[in-house]
Amino acid sequence: MSRQFSKTELVEQLRELGIQPGGVLVVHSSFRAVRPIEGGPHGLIDALQEALGPEGTLVIPSWTGDSDSPFDPVCTPADPDLGVTADLFWRRPEVVRSEHCFAFAASGPRAHEIVSGPLPLPPHIPNSPIGKVHDADGQVLLLGVNHDANTTVHLAEIMADVPYRIPYYVTVLQKGRPMRIDYGENDSCCQRFTFVDDWMRDRGLQKEGSVGHARARLVRSRDVVNIVTEKLGDDRLTFLHPPDFGCEECDLARKSLGG
Ligand SMILES: [Zn+2]
Repeated sequence: MSRQFSKTELVEQLRELGIQPGGVLVVHSSFRAVRPIEGGPHGLIDALQEALGPEGTLVIPSWTGDSDSPFDPVCTPADPDLGVTADLFWRRPEVVRSEHCFAFAASGPRAHEIVSGPLPLPPHIPNSPIGKVHDADGQVLLLGVNHDANTTVHLAEIMADVPYRIPYYVTVLQKGRPMRIDYGENDSCCQRFTFVDDWMRDRGLQKEGSVGHARARLVRSRDVVNIVTEKLGDDRLTFLHPPDFGCEECDLARKSLGG
């Protein structure tokens, strides 16, 4: 068994990495990579909040993976793909959560501002929680995950006007009745989002270190958007696997281009 990091050590690691006290921070994490740490996933949340300080705002994805049921912010679990930390975070008393199915959850002085707003379609447009983190000049922390888990890359795709859309639907309550909304989302398998790792590193815009046992990457949301929109300006299909690769999701995205 690996040694357990204390909460104090985690806070030190986060500060050393460059978490900005008083700032806005969105976190994508794999707790499996971080552990063992004092207090488990709640200990990680405590350490993130402590590193940000009382003026800081912590933001964690909190959407559902269930397209068939209307979203209820007080009882719908977070998508299991988001990890255990995400599903514990929104249940804490100091945390507020979006009212819609593409929810984020947040704590701190700017929490309500970040998570509020109408259902964004597609989910990661500028007027969405992840767009508001960008507007607030927030940081993005990837804990034990790479940029394929970095939602800000989807925001950058929208800002670069990528042409592909995969058909999805959600179920919302309208006048108390479930109603299906079909929409197209800029999506793919997202494996090639890991290109962003080298792009950021090459420009010296990514801080790297350890948090607990996990490899940690820290970037500014605005730097991600600037670099990704620049690269997508050269080739808007950069993130899609080539047609002969045999990737079902990227093929679906390509199919939406027609021709
Ligand atoms: Zn693919």
